Amino acid sequence: MTVLVIAEHDHATVKPATLNTVTAGIACQSGDVHVLVAGANAAEAAAAAAKIAGVAKVIAADSPSLAENLAENVAAQVLAIAKNYSHILFPATANGKNVAPRVAAKLDVAQISDVTKVDSPDTFERPIYAGNAIAIMQSSDAIKVITVRTTGFDPAAATGGSAAVESAEGVADSGKSSFIGREVTRSERPELTAAKIIVSGGRALGSAEKFTEVMAPLADKLNAGLGASRAAVDAGYAPNDWQVGQTGKIVAPQLYIACGISGAIQHLAGMKDSKVIVAINKDPEAPIFSVADYGLEADLFTAVPELVKAL
Ligand SMILES: Cc1cc2nc3c(=O)[nH]c(=O)nc-3n(C[C@H](O)[C@H](O)[C@H](O)COP(=O)(O)OP(=O)(O)OC[C@H]3O[C@@H](n4cnc5c(N)ncnc54)[C@H](O)[C@@H]3O)c2cc1C
Repeated sequence: MTVLVIAEHDHATVKPATLNTVTAGIACQSGDVHVLVAGANAAEAAAAAAKIAGVAKVIAADSPSLAENLAENVAAQVLAIAKNYSHILFPATANGKNVAPRVAAKLDVAQISDVTKVDSPDTFERPIYAGNAIAIMQSSDAIKVITVRTTGFDPAAATGGSAAVESAEGVADSGKSSFIGREVTRSERPELTAAKIIVSGGRALGSAEKFTEVMAPLADKLNAGLGASRAAVDAGYAPNDWQVGQTGKIVAPQLYIACGISGAIQHLAGMKDSKVIVAINKDPEAPIFSVADYGLEADLFTAVPELVKAL
């Protein structure tokens, strides 16, 4: 049977999470990997998906009903072709997690969530208890609906493939939801889940002003994404979408620098797969040091500006 990967895209480009999901699809060892690009005027995104290494076919479903990524319509589009596949994989992003359960429910199968490793075509691994244990799950469902934790899989090469692009009829609007508007935060900084370097600040920063004053120059120097602990977000020092952790974003950059973050398990759940972890904390007993590759026991208000100066 064949594997279907649901592309995350903005109609013109394919988002990086799609590349990791393709790798997971290939790991399912269930035959060819197809990618569904469900969008409106999304020929460019479909062409980009066709270049991903390891993809055999791109299914381009183009319809005005798919312009705003409404979960009801995207789920209907997936369901229209679902029966041709043994595995349907979504990136475990906000979009993927919005659509996958609708597809699983309609197919009457159990969704397999947040997969970090594929052991065999029917056996998958996923973290539980905030990443403190790994569950190995075997599914006997005929169609396996899976969300993929992208940090668990290397990205497939974005170029080098030459898949055929096949058009599919776009679904009609479900009428169940409608698009009202979107407020998008624009930032010059890399998006957290795609950033190669992330610098994160915690409660120790003490105020939104100090957070910006101390952390932003370090992020600027390193061209890094800015992250935060939940305590910093809850206190209003940093916006909600910067939160890293169990109830925030799961990240695995090349370098993660945690400043004034204690390292609660819920924070570690979101960043402990980072390749190199640096912690700056004035408490030598802080749990963050147990996962850090490099630890600096220091006052961040001195250490971070010194680091910025030295870079
Ligand atoms: C269900 C649930 C979900 C959660 N989800 C998340 C999540 O997604 N992400 C998350 O981050 N948390 C999450 N939490 C909260 C988590 O348990 C912690 O409360 C939170 O991570 C603490 O943030 P912090 O490390 O910034 O603050 P604190 O724990 O208060 O730590 C501050 C640290 O700064 C150090 N420090 C203080 N002053 C300085 C200084 N001048 N220089 C250097 N170091 C200094 C201290 O030694 C301390 O280690 C969740 C909790 C629950 C119950």
